[in-house]
Amino acid sequence: MTFWKDTPLIDMTQEQWEQLCDGCGKCCLNKIIDDETEQLYYTNVACHLLNHQSCRCEKYPQRFEFVPQCTAITVDNIASLTWLPDSCSYKRLYEGRGLASWHPLITGSKDAMHKAGMSVRKKVKNEKKVKWLEDHIVLWPLVDKD
Ligand code: SF4
Ligand code: SF4
Repeated sequence: MTFWKDTPLIDMTQEQWEQLCDGCGKCCLNKIIDDETEQLYYTNVACHLLNHQSCRCEKYPQRFEFVPQCTAITVDNIASLTWLPDSCSYKRLYEGRGLASWHPLITGSKDAMHKAGMSVRKKVKNEKKVKWLEDHIVLWPLVDKD
């Protein structure tokens, strides 16, 4: 039942790995990296395939056909994906922090995550409607809550 506590990431099945994703949608936000300082900034501008209500990808199985730069998170590349938000469940488990109390695997639904403000619901804009990413830098994606 609590495979996320007992099973090392490397031993998880594909189904278990997919279940780890809380579906927050934060990884689908556009980010900016300052050329000089290499500082990463999150924006509230989402990939055009992200559903702003469900926080899920509208074309998940075929997403790479539509968005070639979309990144699949795997046990092999998780260490290098430093841009993932601290609340990302893959990052939390990789860093040994466990899943947050609001995670859907623990609560049984995404309601607690939305209520805790840990998803992108009602906070984002479609990238096709935004001209300058620099005008949309936000701090809330950086917040994590246990
Ligand atoms: S293609 Fe889908 S999974 Fe990839 S960034 Fe866009 S919304 Fe997210
Ligand atoms: S940030 Fe992590 S947990 Fe949240 S949707 Fe993206 S991959 Fe899933």
